[in-house]
Amino acid sequence: MRPVVPVKKRIVLVGGGHSHVTVLRSFGMMPEPGIAVTLIAKELDAPYSGMLPGLVAGHYTHEECHIDLVRLAAFAGARLVHGEVTGIDRVRREVHIAGRPPLAFDLLSIDTGITPDLSNIRGAREHAIPVKPVSTFAPRWEELRKRALLPDGPRRIAVVGAGAAGFEIILAIRHRLRQEAPKHGIDPSAFGFVLIGNEALLPSHNSRARTLARKELARTGVKLIECDGVVEVTPDELVLASGKRILVDAALVTTKAAAPAWFADTGLKLDAKGFIALRSTLQSVNDDDVFAAGDCAAVLDHPREKAGVFAVRQGPPLAANLRARAIARSVKPFKPQRQFLTLLSSGDQRAIAARGPFAAAGAWAWRWKDGIDRPFMESFNDLSFMVTEKADEEMRCGGCAAKIGPATLSAALSRLEASGEDRSIAREDAAIRDTGGERLELESVDFFRAFWPEPYLLGEIAAIHAMSDIHAMGGVPEHAQGVAVLPYAHPRRTEDDLFQLMAGAAAAFEREKVVLDGGHSSEGAELAVGFAVSGSVERDRLRRKGGLKPGDRLVLSKPIGTAILFAALMRGAARAPWIAAAIAGMRRSNRQAADVLIQHGASAMTDVTGFGLAGHVIELLEASRTTAALDVEALPLYPGVADLARSGVASTLLPQNLANRAKVSGLAEQHSAWAILFDPQTSGGLVAGIPADGAEACLAALKAVSPEASIIGTVGPDAGAGAPLLELRSRRP
Ligand SMILES: Cc1cc2nc3c(=O)[nH]c(=O)nc-3n(C[C@H](O)[C@H](O)[C@H](O)COP(=O)(O)OP(=O)(O)OC[C@H]3O[C@@H](n4cnc5c(N)ncnc54)[C@H](O)[C@@H]3O)c2cc1C
Repeated sequence: MRPVVPVKKRIVLVGGGHSHVTVLRSFGMMPEPGIAVTLIAKELDAPYSGMLPGLVAGHYTHEECHIDLVRLAAFAGARLVHGEVTGIDRVRREVHIAGRPPLAFDLLSIDTGITPDLSNIRGAREHAIPVKPVSTFAPRWEELRKRALLPDGPRRIAVVGAGAAGFEIILAIRHRLRQEAPKHGIDPSAFGFVLIGNEALLPSHNSRARTLARKELARTGVKLIECDGVVEVTPDELVLASGKRILVDAALVTTKAAAPAWFADTGLKLDAKGFIALRSTLQSVNDDDVFAAGDCAAVLDHPREKAGVFAVRQGPPLAANLRARAIARSVKPFKPQRQFLTLLSSGDQRAIAARGPFAAAGAWAWRWKDGIDRPFMESFNDLSFMVTEKADEEMRCGGCAAKIGPATLSAALSRLEASGEDRSIAREDAAIRDTGGERLELESVDFFRAFWPEPYLLGEIAAIHAMSDIHAMGGVPEHAQGVAVLPYAHPRRTEDDLFQLMAGAAAAFEREKVVLDGGHSSEGAELAVGFAVSGSVERDRLRRKGGLKPGDRLVLSKPIGTAILFAALMRGAARAPWIAAAIAGMRRSNRQAADVLIQHGASAMTDVTGFGLAGHVIELLEASRTTAALDVEALPLYPGVADLARSGVASTLLPQNLANRAKVSGLAEQHSAWAILFDPQTSGGLVAGIPADGAEACLAALKAVSPEASIIGTVGPDAGAGAPLLELRSRRP
């Protein structure tokens, strides 16, 4: 057992901004025993603003200019909450998160960036696209790009705000649309671009940079209007302060930025514009335990413009001071530099470099910028080489992938059965009690070590997973009792974790009207949770593992591959959208899928969990005395699973699950589908036999509640003793 270091301080990071990503990397590279870090982030991939114009221009992919917060948090050993903070209660030391119970903190750090302030331009909210915050801009730009490349799409495009962001964005848009126009049968010269500012172009840059920027705009044919701000946006024109009207089809706004509105109720001292007022240690001026960084804050002694470069530079001192404060060392002041290099891209792989009074432009400057930005991003996204140094023991899978393998389990149970008396253990998903009433009673229990360190989501998924055994038998779960193991910590921290764990579970149970009416808890080495669930089922609705008929189609309700994905996450090889998709699937109860499958005459049914899809299908086949052929290409997989399996990523339970391999035929030894078919699933879907003539109708109905559902195979007759039960068919070698 690994030594347990009790949690002494909880650091909560709000927002995955440019400073917090450095804090996370710092804790990943140098973990601090006894310090628990939680990141609360609205988006799971954080855009890096320096490369955003390059994304718009088409020079970078989404992955290249976003930091994967799921991977980074896993590397940092941090808990990740995918959610939006709506406020903080400084008296109770709690963070409020939309749709969740409050989360306790000892130290808090805020790096949420800004929100757009469109209040001074009439109609901007309704008719313009705000360029800030960056995270919401990217999808809106994609939508505009698609429209602009339609035969009758927008052609006259304006950017309001002639600072650095406005300059880069109008040129990036111009480059992208003109590049792509011919492929869509559009003459590039049909587009018109205008940049409008209420001050001179690039007000915070030197005059040489301004001159170069004007030349770039003239070279590229972008019209520039300076010192005449937009006061109104309508669906087809911009009204300027001078009264001039400009016809446009699409307007983007990158003007004023405001602090998030919830700051006003925190009791934190704010500056005149509503940003969090900081000391040079990055601590709030009126709360030593609240830190902030980036655009959402203002260091009173060192005022600087709002720019990503400062947010990035604040990362290391913020990490050092959070760490110091957590272990009761003294925090240090940080003075940002006054002069800094800016590299403004001109869309077509040229840039203007400026620092102090100097400025120059050319393709070399873009290459310089690219040479700085790419390695910076790689330092956050390519963490695999650092992860490989972790001990194997730390890479053991959690969830259902931490279960005992089928051979070990069945050996232990057969010894029990052989030890005399009538102790036969029925191998259904839930125990059935027939008390003579109209309904049969069902009882089941499930339990696993944490596969995800954040207790609320873990509790929710564990509850959904535990109810699944009852759903798999056609029943209705009614009561639940919980068992939880919590790592040793100060009683207050243990209380918070237990509260979060049970609050997540209670939310899941409440949705199905299940009463959580008891349980037990214990201290232990690692977070683990489980539930005993009881329920009942009408006699004619009961479904067992036996009952498949030759000719039945095998229908699977959810994708598979959860353990491969979480194994990849531990190795720094998973991506945020993959994990998000798996979590969304695991949070989906099997209740509705069970209803659909039963309505369509399910002959036998079970849920896919620790033994993997193949292991559970074999259980159905053995209980039904049938065989089956499975179409490997029809298996629904979570995104990322196929590639990961091909590259050899697998759960630590896989070797044990493969003990069932002898019952399977048809696939070459080295085929990556083995790892997928025997991949243990946490909160997996249902697999059922459906009469062939109703299978397509069943699938259509099932897709309405479980969109990735699929018909994966066909049941065949018994092949006799010793013959393989499951034949795998694949068109790929
Ligand atoms: C087009 C463009 C180009 C730019 N180019 C440059 C450049 O080249 N160099 C430069 O220095 N600056 C540049 N900037 C400015 C730069 O984008 C910002 O200064 C920088 O993003 C600020 O970083 P931050 O960490 O403060 O916040 P952000 O990067 O905005 O990060 C904040 C994060 O917090 C999350 N969040 C917000 N609210 C909540 C909440 N309530 N709960 C949970 N999470 C929350 C957000 O989703 C976001 O991921 C550019 C800006 C734009 C628009």
